[in-house]
Amino acid sequence: MRAAPRPAPVGAGLLGEGGREEVVPLAEETFRSGFVGVVGRPNVGKSTLVNALVGRKVAIVSEKPQTTRNRILGVLNGPGYQMVFLDTPGMIEPRCELDQYMVKIARGTVADVDVVLLVVDGTERPGPAERALVASFPRKGVAAVLAVNKVDLLGPAETARALESYGELYAFRRTVPVSALLGTNLDELRQAVYDCLPPGPRYYPEGMVTDQPDHFYVAEIVREKILELVREEVPYAVAVVVEEITSRPNGMLYIRAYVFCERAGQRGILVGQNARVLKTAGTRARQELEQYFGKRIYLDLWVKVRRDWRDDPSTLQQLGYRFK
Ligand code: GDP
Ligand code: MG
Repeated sequence: MRAAPRPAPVGAGLLGEGGREEVVPLAEETFRSGFVGVVGRPNVGKSTLVNALVGRKVAIVSEKPQTTRNRILGVLNGPGYQMVFLDTPGMIEPRCELDQYMVKIARGTVADVDVVLLVVDGTERPGPAERALVASFPRKGVAAVLAVNKVDLLGPAETARALESYGELYAFRRTVPVSALLGTNLDELRQAVYDCLPPGPRYYPEGMVTDQPDHFYVAEIVREKILELVREEVPYAVAVVVEEITSRPNGMLYIRAYVFCERAGQRGILVGQNARVLKTAGTRARQELEQYFGKRIYLDLWVKVRRDWRDDPSTLQQLGYRFK
């Protein structure tokens, strides 16, 4: 499985005089680009970090593990370079079809990138997940950068200890302590990634930050707001599908979305007393999406039960979790 379909670089196919492709000599100023696979255990802050590096929210974030279910692409353009970050679901022990899908995405991403960015939680010790990930690095010697995240929660001595213990896992090109939440040390991390980039084309046009269709992004924002409000098994049982986004003549955007869960009991929790959970999630999502689209929005949310969808490959497909 390819981690990311590599698009034709912008301007590719332009032929030089005489119909031959122009060869640009490699020089110090050669444009650099590459796919950067962001991997790590669930909840270490991968999505927060990708959003911070790219400078815009491309991936939803929550305090619940396994928030990210798909490969999310975030593009960072800088002077002379383009970094294409691939945020991934965390590495986990698969327990259902959806888990299998997520692990496949994470594995597939590592297999086909120019740089691996391993994100770890500095407040925790290295564990089996990190060891398995490092062992799965596709080629010996693949350029890997280590980001030790959440150092805002650590003192200097603890940070030094975390850098040392995680740094022993692999011959990382660089190890950078960061706080994705506060935006600390991100320039240093960008520089570390830049130093690993090969010469390459601009894969995506400059204005493009992500490849997610609006339908998918909207569904993710709705799911994020629901995750803020529900606990225990419910977050894992929720999937959101956006059925319709249409502009109304009055300039409003009408959005209809279905929130799927696996049991009637979960439906009760999601709707909540007096539809409180659904209303609160809906209001929060609407407000954020109004900022995003720059338009007023009517968000029409419906909750539906789809029994055991996480274990049913055909329903997974319908819900947008497609094995490619
Ligand atoms: P992912 O599962 O690895 O993508 O992790 P998320 O980006 O969804 O973040 C998981 C949780 O960690 C969220 O509650 C974040 O707010 C929190 N988090 C992420 N980065 C930091 C950080 O640098 N410092 C602190 N204190 N919390 C963070
Ligand atoms: Mg994530």
